[in-house]
Amino acid sequence: MKETIGICPGTFDPITNGHLDIIERAAKVFDIIYISVLNNSSKKPLFNLDERMELIRLSTSHLANVHIESSADLLIQYAKEKKATAIVRGLRAVSDFEYEMQIATMNRALDPGVETFFIMTSSKYSFLSSSIVKEVAKYHEDIGELVPEVVAKALRIKFPREMN
Ligand code: ADP
Repeated sequence: MKETIGICPGTFDPITNGHLDIIERAAKVFDIIYISVLNNSSKKPLFNLDERMELIRLSTSHLANVHIESSADLLIQYAKEKKATAIVRGLRAVSDFEYEMQIATMNRALDPGVETFFIMTSSKYSFLSSSIVKEVAKYHEDIGELVPEVVAKALRIKFPREMN
């Protein structure tokens, strides 16, 4: 039987427990998941591409069917190249909906053969985003519940407390 392939695209700057929740749930549904880390020069990420990929690798090492790649291609081209069954996106609040609908509609117009699947976030992660995590980490507040331990450690290195 044909393998089902899901693509989880994103910036992952850095990966949070919200991302991980979506990836873990997608990994149960699809035979293979490719996490496609967008190498998007128009965004100025805190973590460079290699750092983001390494943090994802360490955070998903328990998931045997998850593979991490980077892509600078248009998502639908990447999905086609991977022979993807579906692009998988996480949905948090209503605010995500309009943006996601635009992209999903455009991708469908470009290639009706690739579906977009949405996974509703677990309620405890519905207000969690990489931006919020970075903002809180900058002020040295505890982010231990929001991100994998390796990410918390990497953020502490990015935002060191001033030496007294
Ligand atoms: P992008 O720049 O493409 O939005 P992100 O790294 O912000 O990349 O998000 C990648 C994917 O993860 C998106 O589908 C986004 O909706 C989803 N996501 C991010 N945070 C959460 C969360 N807390 N719960 C569920 N899904 C999330």
